[in-house]
Amino acid sequence: MNVTETPDQTRFRHELRTWLDAHVRPQWREPGFEEQASVALRFAVRRKWHRTLATGGWIGVEWPVEYGGRGLTPVHGLILSEELARARALPIADWVGVELVAPTLLRCGSHEQRARYLPGIMDGSEVWCQGFSEPAAGSDLAAVTTVATRTADGYRISGHKRWTSWAQFADFALVLARTGDPAARHRTLSCFIVPLGSPGVTIEPIPMLYGDAEECDLHLDDVEVPADALVGEENKGWRTVMTSLTLARGSATLIRIAALKRTFDGLTRDMFAPGVPAAGLPDDSVLRSFALLHARLEALGHLARRKMGEMEDDGLPGQIASTEKLLWARLSSDIARFGMETQDLDGIVEPDPSGVSTGWRREMYRAMANEIEGGTNAIQRTTIARHVLKLPC
Ligand SMILES: Cc1cc2nc3c(=O)[nH]c(=O)nc-3n(C[C@H](O)[C@H](O)[C@H](O)COP(=O)(O)OP(=O)(O)OC[C@H]3O[C@@H](n4cnc5c(N)ncnc54)[C@H](O)[C@@H]3O)c2cc1C
Repeated sequence: MNVTETPDQTRFRHELRTWLDAHVRPQWREPGFEEQASVALRFAVRRKWHRTLATGGWIGVEWPVEYGGRGLTPVHGLILSEELARARALPIADWVGVELVAPTLLRCGSHEQRARYLPGIMDGSEVWCQGFSEPAAGSDLAAVTTVATRTADGYRISGHKRWTSWAQFADFALVLARTGDPAARHRTLSCFIVPLGSPGVTIEPIPMLYGDAEECDLHLDDVEVPADALVGEENKGWRTVMTSLTLARGSATLIRIAALKRTFDGLTRDMFAPGVPAAGLPDDSVLRSFALLHARLEALGHLARRKMGEMEDDGLPGQIASTEKLLWARLSSDIARFGMETQDLDGIVEPDPSGVSTGWRREMYRAMANEIEGGTNAIQRTTIARHVLKLPC
């Protein structure tokens, strides 16, 4: 696919840039702006920003007009991500809903489900999380043990989901559950929409190394859902979950690249701030490492554009998404390590008395999670070996 912009796409970019210039707050660009706030406050600010973007017509630009979108192309989506990054805008509150759940419902859900849930995702009034992983089912997702049993008018779901991001603020979870013989692995899994206000739902945030708790344990004890909570067909949930995971490794990575660019900007500013005395400038080897990180970040941006090429043909990011996710995760680790080594040596050894890490130490910890969430580096490498390089493994 040709990612050269059409006149219409260039107009879209300019209109958006003007809008963002008027709406993005300068203080969002300050290093540590988000990290200094509690998780709840951070979520509240992101939610307000979500609503502002929705009011401007900048959420779901690729969704069909029928469901409140603008029916635009994946290239428009790419331009949106690029301009949000350029403006150093905050992430939105419900990126799981906008980037993963809505496109999954558009591909695998019913018309009724799209009509019911997409408006709430668009305006941020209903927030989503994804309950796929379990304590003993992460890389091997087909080992899920959460069970959904048929009842007279729906299903009863019981199980324990782990690492459910932002569940403490969510209204709904997309849950993967077993609806048949476990020996049949992925052939007896189904996906359900579970309202988190239902009796039997318990949510416990999991404290991370850096002190925040964005991920949660999600316990489902005999949670009743109606028959129309099933997404797609019974025992065909694997397709739904793979659609969502491909999106998580694909279009969602664009948003992560944008965040990484913000982090890198902070690094650049710290290293080359006006007034840094000449004696304090980094030596050649440090500058070479810095330049290499910059080049990798630029290359990743170009890869994202290439992936858009694949998307327009089949509607999903394709296997290049695994390459992109792996490169992003590794680069975020390397940038964090470089930042720590050149800017924040104390951060390596000094425990933070508050228990909440900030600055480069926090980036280091978060980057470790980046190499796990959405599929670990090892799993991405296997996918690349099998499906991109076609190696016999
Ligand atoms: C920050 C964060 C957010 C997350 N958000 C969500 C979410 O919102 N919803 C959700 O459902 N899940 C979420 N997850 C879970 C995530 O998808 C899993 O943690 C991930 O898939 C790894 O599974 P696991 O933790 O069970 O590790 P395991 O699968 O037990 O892996 C342990 C180690 O073994 C390696 N390994 C496992 N299998 C293989 C293999 N076949 N070949 C080579 N190496 C292998 C892995 O690479 C890893 O190093 C999140 C995780 C994190 C860290």
